[in-house]
Amino acid sequence: MDVTIIGGGIAGLALAHELAPDHDVTVLESSPGPRGGGYMIDFFGPGFYAAERMGILEELRSRGHEFEGVRYGTPDGVDSGRIDVGPLVQAAGGRYFSILRPEVELGLLAVLPASVDLRYGAQVVAVRDAGLEGAARARRAVVELADGTILDSDLVVACDGVRSPVREQVSPGHGAIVPMGYRVASYLYEDPELAAELGERMLMTDTVRRVGWAYAADDTRVGVMLAERVEGAAGTKRPEPDRERLQRDFTGLHPQVDRALAHAPESFYDDLVAQAIAPRWSRGRIALAGDAAHAPSLLAGQGTSVAIAGAEALARSLRATGPHVEAGLAEYERRWRPTVEKVQRSGRRSASFFTPSSPAQLRLQQIGRRTLGLPGVSRLVTRTFIAA
Ligand SMILES: Cc1cc2nc3c(=O)[nH]c(=O)nc-3n(C[C@H](O)[C@H](O)[C@H](O)COP(=O)(O)OP(=O)(O)OC[C@H]3O[C@@H](n4cnc5c(N)ncnc54)[C@H](O)[C@@H]3O)c2cc1C
Repeated sequence: MDVTIIGGGIAGLALAHELAPDHDVTVLESSPGPRGGGYMIDFFGPGFYAAERMGILEELRSRGHEFEGVRYGTPDGVDSGRIDVGPLVQAAGGRYFSILRPEVELGLLAVLPASVDLRYGAQVVAVRDAGLEGAARARRAVVELADGTILDSDLVVACDGVRSPVREQVSPGHGAIVPMGYRVASYLYEDPELAAELGERMLMTDTVRRVGWAYAADDTRVGVMLAERVEGAAGTKRPEPDRERLQRDFTGLHPQVDRALAHAPESFYDDLVAQAIAPRWSRGRIALAGDAAHAPSLLAGQGTSVAIAGAEALARSLRATGPHVEAGLAEYERRWRPTVEKVQRSGRRSASFFTPSSPAQLRLQQIGRRTLGLPGVSRLVTRTFIAA
């Protein structure tokens, strides 16, 4: 059959990789090329196992990074604690590494079968289920591009991210994102001197309501992530990135973060931290995958992992049911939904302590960190985290 995938991000490319041996696959990506920029992600959990089965794990691992852990720092630049990543890696049986989000995309592109018709600069503006069409009365779905091109296929899968407009079509009333009470910005920039200073540990600020991370992405680049609590007032609209606001609101968390803020680029990732909840992932010949179906938010730390694993689950279900596409889509939900819901729940549980809401909560977290240093507690916590 012919399959059109909307979005050439993590889920879209992983799905194309898996469907290409059996189907004619077209991927429509609105950006003009692979999306650069981005943040360091922790890669573990279901996506790790899926990547192993897909034969792409070594490609991803070769692009990954192994940090020693996290160093905490106060606004006056004093180190206030550290956590080693070793026990986490051990609890995951070695199935854990860090990787820049754009490197996951480039890794998937490197292994993408040549038969996939990947079109950059292709912005989808409408999708519809065409119902039963033609002499064969076959079910079809249609996408329309901004340039007027119409593509007609047996199946359309929307892998167009957490703000996918297709979710509302498939699951009416569930198109909006579900905000988790935080806004996050992130960027990468060239700063070999600070990269050398940061070394093999991520810096996380020991601060209230606003938290900054800085890390050496490689020998020359520094990655920055800045998160703040925005309970209530934020709505669901994507905020406009504003460098001056970022510098004004986050300066003073730590001298190294201040330095990185002074180099903030004009354009950067900036959005509300949110989940996507959809009681249905398909309707007729239109389906959802990745963040479009089930974004767990960065609080769960597994969005990329479940985007890859969900794409693989969808391809596996379609393979198992052959020409019975609707049965394959139902099987995908039955098989995959319980895992995703568990990951989403773990994201919601993290929401209350992602950044401390008060000096008292900060103090509690500092005490918690000290007990984390005890081997038994550390093993217990890391096992719980990995199993989430
Ligand atoms: C700051 C931050 C930190 C994170 N940390 C982690 C972590 O530690 N671990 C982890 O596993 N995950 C993490 N995540 C989550 C992870 O990045 C996402 O869950 C994952 O990228 C989802 O992939 P996706 O392909 O579903 O969506 P996306 O990566 O958003 O891709 C969607 C694609 O669709 C394209 N598109 C959108 N609309 C259209 C259209 N109309 N036509 C054509 N193309 C379109 C977009 O351009 C994009 O390329 C983090 C996220 C953030 C923001």
